[in-house]
Amino acid sequence: MSMVIYIEKAAKNSKLAKHIIKKFNPKVIEINHYKEIFNRSKQNFNFQKNQNRLILAKKDNISFYKGSKFCSNRGYPNFYYSTQILGCIYNCQYCYLGGIYPSGYPVIFVNEDEFIQKAKELKDTFLAISYESDLLAFEGIYPFHKKWIELAKEKKDILIESRTKSANTSKLPKNPPSNFLLTFSLSPNEVTKFEKKAPSLEKRVKAIKEAISKGYRVEIAIDPIIKVDNFKEVYKNFINYLKKELPLLDIPIEIGTFRMNKDFLKKLRKIHLSEVTYYPYEIKNNEARYKDEKELIDFIKGLL
Ligand code: SF4
Repeated sequence: MSMVIYIEKAAKNSKLAKHIIKKFNPKVIEINHYKEIFNRSKQNFNFQKNQNRLILAKKDNISFYKGSKFCSNRGYPNFYYSTQILGCIYNCQYCYLGGIYPSGYPVIFVNEDEFIQKAKELKDTFLAISYESDLLAFEGIYPFHKKWIELAKEKKDILIESRTKSANTSKLPKNPPSNFLLTFSLSPNEVTKFEKKAPSLEKRVKAIKEAISKGYRVEIAIDPIIKVDNFKEVYKNFINYLKKELPLLDIPIEIGTFRMNKDFLKKLRKIHLSEVTYYPYEIKNNEARYKDEKELIDFIKGLL
């Protein structure tokens, strides 16, 4: 399927836009503002996810957003996230983006140098650069990580994390500094079936091995844990597989169960008719969670 790009007039002459257009020779449709396409009402999210379409835009007034209470700040006094890309190539059925974004077409902001300049102003900060997206999944389109890794070399008081389900590690540069972190989100294949278009567990594990050999500081997120059929057996086999394939004692592992704001979940149910979205979660303080999430987490911890 040939690529179609909606491009803001203001983004046309950027290095990033020129790179993508030269590489993919897409059909280009000029627009005034990305919201003309992204914010239209009654868009078909799942249909759009299967189209090879992107929106290129220029972000005005770049700022970073405060990190969610659902995520760890890794002990830093400040926790921000960057939204260089809105939306994702993948289509996980449990992803809250489906509940908040009106469009399945990702928006890439082309002024990457301004994002980097803004990040230079941060102090003692944990900065998540692959938030509300999967930045590494886009690495085949443009080398997004290069400048963030250069920034990490320069600014030692920030920890930059790129969180991913991608297996695109071959496209990453070698020998990043230790304050650049790649966190791989892993699930058993009984759960990756809900992570539409994302690589299999085996491919992600292979990517972790490659990242380690390239000198990356790597972490694993077993998050979200999903209560699938035969939960104990499935996760036991999964952890045994990880133990066999990876030096787990040397890799920090973060674990968490599915949890979501109840209003996002309500919207997500309109997009994904899935056993994940329709599970009868317990709603407390406006959040949907498994009633027995402590037991689920303890079980995984026990396996580890
Ligand atoms: S990879 Fe992450 S951002 Fe992308 S759809 Fe899945 S959960 Fe959402």
